[in-house]
Formats: sequence, structure tokens, C-alpha cells
Amino acid sequence: MNRILRATTKNQEVRAFVAETRDLVNKITQMHQTTPVASAALGRTLTAAAIMGVMLKGAKDQITINIKGEGPIGGIMARANGNGEVSGYVINPLVDISTKTNGKLDVSGAIGPGKLTVIRDFGLKEPYVGQIDLVSGEIADDLTYYYASSEQTNSVVALGVLVDKDYSIKQSGGFMIQLLPGASEETIIKLEENIHHISSVTAMFENGLNAEGILDAILKGLEPKIHEITSPEFKCNCSKQRYENALLTVGKDDLQEMIDADKTIETICHFCNSKYYFDKNELEVIMSRL
Ligand SMILES: [Zn+2]
Repeated sequence: MNRILRATTKNQEVRAFVAETRDLVNKITQMHQTTPVASAALGRTLTAAAIMGVMLKGAKDQITINIKGEGPIGGIMARANGNGEVSGYVINPLVDISTKTNGKLDVSGAIGPGKLTVIRDFGLKEPYVGQIDLVSGEIADDLTYYYASSEQTNSVVALGVLVDKDYSIKQSGGFMIQLLPGASEETIIKLEENIHHISSVTAMFENGLNAEGILDAILKGLEPKIHEITSPEFKCNCSKQRYENALLTVGKDDLQEMIDADKTIETICHFCNSKYYFDKNELEVIMSRL
């Protein structure tokens, strides 16, 4: 069961989101047959996208996180919409690098130095795009930095994925805490204390806490109130129509080349591995629309 809690503190100075995403991340990482380090990187990004999807106002609004680095994973994409539909992939799902000296999966090593881009699409002509240079490559810290620098919002982001021996996802989730305008020094100190005392997200899950338990721990002494619980699910919104539209943008010469070659064109959606085929007749119809 995937769940995201949306809560605020009684004094309205802090809002928080806590996510349990094990089934979601398990489904998507199984679909893409990712190695443990790729599962951790993708799972963290999917969890962040799912949380940021809950923050969107409209059901059709969409958020995309695109992480592009020089490391062997090549890049990570995750997107979510206001309806709780989440999908994502990594460029190289087979990336395999040794664990860090502390035994943890080396997500930052797999990503390498690079950039994190957040694209918010509200169905307007131009999407809203924010970008930062990666500061840690562990994703949660990068998002904290993104919120501070790109959106002038003070946040704490924590994300965690625990991969089991059989490569299935044992634990996955995270939280995001944001200070609302006018947050008092007293509240900030209390939050810092709480954050200092908690263990990692996966350790909290392993210790039997659920999302509510984590919420109580991070907002201890601040009387959190849950406003909404949503259930993010994997869903890809690709369609043959989408790829037809993409073919319309390749240009007349390239399209004519495909028609002359008299071969069926195969397109693949990286988010869900669906394939769509266009034969010569269909390509000619697309050509006639240009
Ligand atoms: Zn798809």
C-alpha cells in the first residue's frame, strides 16, 4: 500500500508530507529490472516526485524531476501528477558500482556530478522550470537545496530505499518538511531537535514505524494534524497518439526517409516499456498532416 500524508502543525507554521512508497517503487524497479543502486536512486526520486505531485493543485498538473549526471547511471527521470499517478526510469538500469565503505549503496557515485531539474507543468503554454547543480548526489539534500535556492523555501527532505537480498524493495519512503511564512524561532529549534533525534527513514520503517509514526517523530511537540491521505500508484500516460504527435515534429525529410525505407517504425516509452508501431500507411497519413 502506497500512502502519502499531508499535515500541518497546530500553529500553522510548518507543513509536512510523509510517504510510504514500497509497493510503488517495487513495481517500477521490477519493471525496469534495476540493480540495487539503480533501485535506490530511482526509488528516492520516485518518492520525491510522488510527494511533489501531492503538492500540485490540479489533477492534471504534472511535475517531472530530471537528474542528469556524469556517473554510470546516466540519468534519472520521475514524474507525477496531481492525481497521484507516478512513473519513472533510469537511463542505465544495469549500473553496478561497489557500495560505500559504510556498506551503503553509492547513489551519489552512480549519479556523479551533474544537474537536477524540476519541471512543473500546469497546462499553460510554458512549464515552470527550476534547475540546480547537484550538491550531494544523494537526491534528498539536492532537493533541500533546490527548494532553498529555486523556490526560497526552507525545507528538510529525507528519502530512503532499502533493497532486499532478492532485489525486491524492502522499505521505501520519505518525508518533506517545509517552513511556512512567519515560522517562529521556537518552532525551528523544535524541528531541528526532532530531526537530530530521528534515525534514517528506512531505519524508522524497519523499527516498525508507519507514516503516522514518522510524522509524530518529526513534528514532535508541534501537534501535527493530518489533512489528507493519498495513494500514489504507478501509471504511465503514454499513448500511440503521443508518439504520433512526436513523429509530426521530426520533419518532412526524415519522415519521407522512413516512408521510403518501407519499414515499420518502433517507438518505445522509457517510462513503461510500451511499444508503439507505425507502418508505412500510418506514416503516410502523418506526412499528409504536415
Ligand atoms: Zn509509457
